[in-house]
Amino acid sequence: MQKHGKCFLQVAIDAVEAGVKIPEADPKVTSVGYGGAPDRDGRVTLDACIMDEHASCGAVACLENILHPISVARLVMEKTPHVFLAGEGALSFALENEFKKTNLLTPEAEANWKKWIKEKKYIPKVDYNTHDTIGMLALDADGNLSGACTTSGWAYKMHGRIGDSPIIGAGLFVDNEVGGATSTGLGEEVIRVCGSHAVVELMRQGYHPAEACKAVVERMLKKSPRKRDEITAGFLALNKKGEYGAYAIKKGYQIAIHSNSEPGVLKDIDFLKL
Ligand code: ASP
Repeated sequence: MQKHGKCFLQVAIDAVEAGVKIPEADPKVTSVGYGGAPDRDGRVTLDACIMDEHASCGAVACLENILHPISVARLVMEKTPHVFLAGEGALSFALENEFKKTNLLTPEAEANWKKWIKEKKYIPKVDYNTHDTIGMLALDADGNLSGACTTSGWAYKMHGRIGDSPIIGAGLFVDNEVGGATSTGLGEEVIRVCGSHAVVELMRQGYHPAEACKAVVERMLKKSPRKRDEITAGFLALNKKGEYGAYAIKKGYQIAIHSNSEPGVLKDIDFLKL
């Protein structure tokens, strides 16, 4: 898009879609899109959602053989009267709209899955090293916010399991008057507290994005029947002023920032200490 004689992505929704398409297509990223870990049946099933400044949103879940679930989610938002399509219906919709079928199971992911089956005997045990999701938030030159979230979900999950990532309010929420938030980690726990929506509502009450993320991590722990060391999750938030923050239960998550004052900066996310 042209603005002030320069060519750049002006619209936040275009930025978040283009941004998350990169890890979706990257076989080295083992928790998103192509190269993502399959379910316990060896099927790569993808979940994604997108939300713009008008509170328009779209989502797909349990979508197989499509390289860019985020773009299908955007089409659900733009071309259907619905918000959420799942499984076969989501696949048919994608194919009707000229997406092509692609095998998303890389030889590496298949080899790891076969090893997993042998060791774990097909029982989907909780393994907290197998969680990560890409969530992206953007504030554009006109001050509008959008967000996107995409994942292959909990590695070796039961077939048909859907996590927080494609659920508006859990994996992603944007309110253009306030800010946006997105999550990573154990979706079962994020859903329980409607995590991303909760972060945005705390920002509406005046919390800084980092404080809002921390408060929801603490709420999640309080509400969970799981032991603390059995949960991994984190949130990222951006407010209307361009302030951002993130917080996780465990060490190891990172955020990438790109702004005029911080071009291309990678930061470790602060986490809950003992
Ligand atoms: N949040 C995603 C899910 O629960 C994936 C993850 O980050 O583990 O499906």
